[in-house]
Amino acid sequence: MFKEQLEKIFLKVEKPGRYIGNEQNSVKKEVTEDMVRFALAFPDVYEVAMSHLGSHILYSLLNNEDDIYCERVFAPWIDMEQKMIENNIPLYGLESKDPISKFDFIGFTLQYEMSYTNIINMIHLGNIPILSKDRTDKDPFVIAGGPCAYNPEPLADIIDFFVIGEGEEVNIEILKLYKEFKKANKSRSEYLEAVSKIEGVYVPEFYQVEYNEDGTIKEFKPKDKKYPKTIKKRIMKDLEESYFPEKIIVPYIETVHDRIMLEIFRGCTRGCRFCQAGMIYRPVRERSIDNLVELAKKLVEATGYEEISLSSLSTSDYSQLEELVTRLMKEFKDKKIGLSLPSLRLDSFSLGVIEEIQKVRKTGLTFAPEAGSQRLRDVINKGITEENLIESVQSAFKLGWSTVKLYFMIGLPTETYDDILGIKELAYKVKSEFFDIPREERKGNFKVTVSTSCFVPKPFTPFQWHPQDTIDEFNQKIDFLKKQIKDRKVIYNHHDSRLSFLEAVIARGDRNIGKVLVKAWEKGCKFDGWSDLFNFNNWMEAFEETGIDPDFYATRERSYDEVLPWDFLDVGVTKEFLIKENEKSKKEELTKDCRLGCTACGINKSFTGGVC
Ligand code: SF4
Repeated sequence: MFKEQLEKIFLKVEKPGRYIGNEQNSVKKEVTEDMVRFALAFPDVYEVAMSHLGSHILYSLLNNEDDIYCERVFAPWIDMEQKMIENNIPLYGLESKDPISKFDFIGFTLQYEMSYTNIINMIHLGNIPILSKDRTDKDPFVIAGGPCAYNPEPLADIIDFFVIGEGEEVNIEILKLYKEFKKANKSRSEYLEAVSKIEGVYVPEFYQVEYNEDGTIKEFKPKDKKYPKTIKKRIMKDLEESYFPEKIIVPYIETVHDRIMLEIFRGCTRGCRFCQAGMIYRPVRERSIDNLVELAKKLVEATGYEEISLSSLSTSDYSQLEELVTRLMKEFKDKKIGLSLPSLRLDSFSLGVIEEIQKVRKTGLTFAPEAGSQRLRDVINKGITEENLIESVQSAFKLGWSTVKLYFMIGLPTETYDDILGIKELAYKVKSEFFDIPREERKGNFKVTVSTSCFVPKPFTPFQWHPQDTIDEFNQKIDFLKKQIKDRKVIYNHHDSRLSFLEAVIARGDRNIGKVLVKAWEKGCKFDGWSDLFNFNNWMEAFEETGIDPDFYATRERSYDEVLPWDFLDVGVTKEFLIKENEKSKKEELTKDCRLGCTACGINKSFTGGVC
């Protein structure tokens, strides 16, 4: 009945293409009684969600199964939400337009802590109780996975169960199990009991937390010994065999990444000490060139996109990158299909690769030295030098590039103002390199953009015990850098330190943070990652009203013997390794890339498969 009203409101909102569905390669199935219905929920707007590779993989993988119907659901933008409320329209699946409350599962992907209020809002707009304890047999299961699930505790009261690790196999196991339970008419609690036995599944209600007087965790344990003490992440052992879609949805409206995203490998062996992805996605697993070229051909055919992005944590570390790029260029050059290589590293930046890409079109050059001085780059084990950067930009300028983006972090452990000054100096050196080229050989208008984010200590990194800078400290450092950069060709952008502060609170939060999330949402917080909608005061009031001190989570140093909220998860990389790395960082000692010799992180003991 509301489907007719929906059509009317589409005409009254900004970007109706966000809410219509029916795009090329979207899947329509006839709904049957015994089918398992899954709403793949992304807690942000359509344009962001449709640029997320993991969602495309899962959507296609689940819909490959005849007895599963996976639909998409996104956070409606403020105008659409208003119209939905006015017209009594609940949150719906994009494909069938059925309310998500009719589905069996709502599966959220957790990419960013500051999307958590959107999760609460979406559950509420779906007419589903916000807290797991209030859901009944009539309600769907609200589940979640993705990188932020590596500390599930802030959402423990809201999410029925989490899936830790890579979802390709485990999600099918979960849904097939549910199908049996649905057929046998079994209860919600019976299913939760059964699903808790699947490796990689964490059901928070089966675990209890005791706290010390100072608010730290005394003990985290299963309520019964039938539940596992540790939850081991799931990985796809062989990426070559693992599912990758041959078609992806082509949106009607412009999205963040309008291109084919080709996942060339998972994992990273570099060991940057601030990087959570580098630790949790180990070991490295590559797809073969033949496989990638075949996939690319099928995806170009199915989508008509004119750009292929080679996606991974560190694209230049693909073992045969030059050959891959050459093969892809040969295949697609005549069709004018370009290649883009995000996440390049400076030290393995290959001139040959640059030359190949240039044959089609120039995409922007982006480098992430992360820290301005060699000393601090050694602390974080970035393992790249100024010479690496300078040589890379020199080559690129000679080949006709003229704009460079440089990414840094402010507030890294042991940082001084000299390190921050180093950011400016590096940007100025990049500029000198451009203008050192004879005028007649230079191409384009030079510009270097320096962006700084605020360091957020993350679980499962060697810096997980570190205090974050306070908001004032961040702001003083940002102001200092702003005053230092006085060249019109050097543009400086920085992140909002208040947002990074909240991100740090949630990233290392325990179960108590769930109350703050709900309170902040009740006060109107949503789309917190969108600067025009972010309301820091509401968040501060939420902390005050729930009696929770955010500094306890963000700016407090932890000791090695403190029980951390995520300690019960087994990601393969051991705590001993993380401690050793943290100690080495204090001595500014580097740890080599694993490909030059194993550094004993532990992943090869508990997880076999992959090459590391
Ligand atoms: S086991 Fe060794 S080689 Fe493998 S990721 Fe860990 S440190 Fe690197």
